[in-house]
Amino acid sequence: MKLELIDLTKKYGNFTALDRVNITFSKGIYGILGANGAGKSTMMNLLTDNIPRTEGQILFDDGSSEKGGTDILKLGRDFRRVLGYMPQQQGYYEHMTVETFLFYMAELKAIPKRQAKVEIEKLLEITDLSDVRHKKLGGCSGGMKQRALLAQALLGDPKVVILDEPTAGLDPKERIRIRNFISSFSRGRIILLATHIVSDIESISDKILLMKHGQVVGIDTPDELFESVSDKVKELPCEPGELEKIEEMYKVGNVFQRKGKTWVRVVGDELPEAGEYVPEHLTLEDVYLYYLGE
Ligand code: ADP
Repeated sequence: MKLELIDLTKKYGNFTALDRVNITFSKGIYGILGANGAGKSTMMNLLTDNIPRTEGQILFDDGSSEKGGTDILKLGRDFRRVLGYMPQQQGYYEHMTVETFLFYMAELKAIPKRQAKVEIEKLLEITDLSDVRHKKLGGCSGGMKQRALLAQALLGDPKVVILDEPTAGLDPKERIRIRNFISSFSRGRIILLATHIVSDIESISDKILLMKHGQVVGIDTPDELFESVSDKVKELPCEPGELEKIEEMYKVGNVFQRKGKTWVRVVGDELPEAGEYVPEHLTLEDVYLYYLGE
């Protein structure tokens, strides 16, 4: 199974929001990382055919035949049937209960009633929403709403699941819960998870795609990305009053206290003589700063 983007481009007037993106997704979790405005939602919206593309192709191959991929626009309903989409929270269905919402979404996806009933029961269970099934979405906490949105994305056992900022507005405990949940249903599917929150994807992504100004600037496994910045990150002690100067010269990550001193983490191609490399302790935050930091 694969999903192939070929020269995918989206322009809004003269502004290019997505610029000739070429990627092939296969089974696994892809964390799509980029600052606000990088083009993540635009890519998701093109993949779900919510907005018209300007140029390029999106080919889906379910692996069942030899003929290779077919454009999702041509597949139409056949693609939508294997697609699960969790949009950013918008508050459209506030008057519906959690359960009614899921039945409504199942109907939109043309899932037969009997099958929907079985699936919804299971999804309420695994998203831990059984107890609040009769609660109106408008009265649900942010975490419950996100879990309900995630549950609807999984109706119909989708092969391709697109999640746009699934943990937006959640506290750390809920974030971990959603993350574990995504990880648990990922087997055998293509999962694309867009976020600007590094910790959302660090532990669960098979591959990380880095986006900047509408372009893909990197796609690799977390380990490969760490390796690629192993000589780009240093920690150095910093005297009081020095921090501002360091910030002017380098991209600065964490500032922290160690052995009674202030230390800074700096990232870049040109690093100061002082300080020490930390190849054993790299994080996705370093990768983000190196590739996507301004
Ligand atoms: P992200 O999801 O990474 O935050 P988006 O895909 O939402 O980024 O946006 C990418 C760029 O496209 C941004 O600069 C945004 O302002 C612009 N953009 C998005 N939607 C529209 C639109 N409907 N009209 C004009 N510009 C848009």
